[in-house]
Amino acid sequence: LWHSLLMAEIKQSDKLHNVLYDIRGPLLEHAKRMEAEGHRILKLNIGNPAPFGFEAPDAILVDMIRHLPKAQGYSDSRGIFSARTAVVQYYQSRGIQTIDVDDVYLGNGVSELITLSLQALLNNGEEILVPTPDYPLWTASVSLAGGTAVHYLCDESNSWWPDVEDLESKITPQTRGIVLINPNNPTGAVYPRSVIQQIVDLARRHDLIIFADEIYEKILYDDAVHVNAASVTGDDVLCLTFSGLSKAYRIAGFRSGWMAISGPKHRAADYIEGINLLANMRLCANVPAQHAIQTALGGYQSINDLILPGGRLREQRDKAYELLNAIPGVSCELAKGALYLFPRLDPEVYPIKNDEQFALDLLKQQKILISHGTAFNWVNPDHFRMVTLPNVKDIEDAIGRLAEFLSTYKP
Ligand code: PLP
Repeated sequence: LWHSLLMAEIKQSDKLHNVLYDIRGPLLEHAKRMEAEGHRILKLNIGNPAPFGFEAPDAILVDMIRHLPKAQGYSDSRGIFSARTAVVQYYQSRGIQTIDVDDVYLGNGVSELITLSLQALLNNGEEILVPTPDYPLWTASVSLAGGTAVHYLCDESNSWWPDVEDLESKITPQTRGIVLINPNNPTGAVYPRSVIQQIVDLARRHDLIIFADEIYEKILYDDAVHVNAASVTGDDVLCLTFSGLSKAYRIAGFRSGWMAISGPKHRAADYIEGINLLANMRLCANVPAQHAIQTALGGYQSINDLILPGGRLREQRDKAYELLNAIPGVSCELAKGALYLFPRLDPEVYPIKNDEQFALDLLKQQKILISHGTAFNWVNPDHFRMVTLPNVKDIEDAIGRLAEFLSTYKP
């Protein structure tokens, strides 16, 4: 014992000092402790469809099981050929002709490829423009790679679309790329072609890379149309498109995603060599899950049953939107895509100073777990995110409890 007291503390790397990923942070730890004590917590914090009764299409499961005996070895480090071909054909069907099989990398979810693509690019101090609010893995991965995430504003009063003027004002000689999350997590915004075009024009003028996170591209509501950034970037802007099976195909736990490179690849040969090095170093992505990709992309798009009128996701979004907006001092944009709402708590009514404390108080009193807005690098403590995955009854229950909590809340 004396010996161990005399020894120095074992500390984490300085590289992690600016790395934050609060969606799975202290709040979730607290919720887990409450669950261990026997409380039932309504978890509205993570975009994980399966626990809410959304099952993968049968064809995908059958195909994975059928291929399991053949999936025991490592694959090519980019991924199996048939899956990468399916990704190429998918983008061709969306009008993008410039992605070849070797431009596609399969990963253990999009997450792995996000960190890999930034590690391969950034020198210390170089900047990436990331939206605020954002899906915080982007900011965290830029920081982990030694870069600086510079946040451009998405404008709540304009359907949460990127404020292109703000974005332009934040470009410096250190800027290397722009992250577009479309459809957006956490706001649910879906960007029109004109906004994407303006951002791509900026990227062209300043020689920046577009990182297009399109993992929710098939989860669209109402009249929303998804425009792939790669269909706008063309031949002269390098674009890395990220998507996968976690959300639209409900197999987040299998870890299956891809990254596709398009645009002036000849100019990016050195960067791509860096990507290849890192892809080789992680050997390959989970092989059984790679076998799901061809079936998913080639098959019947069963997500439509969930997002069209009468579909579960659509009804849940509508119900959550209606009930949130009915609470005094709460307002919320209608999500046009993805699985979330990002409501605003009017600071005049709820003068919250610390939104993580707000979420913790809500958890303790009402046993519902949301994510505080500053976890998404949002600037003010006046928003939170909830997933629209629970069934209507649970949504009614959760928002009812939120309303009760707010009716007496004194920050
Ligand atoms: N990108 C966005 C915008 C997400 O919301 C998520 C998951 O929530 C991911 C990427 C990571 O997905 P994956 O399961 O493919 O790693």
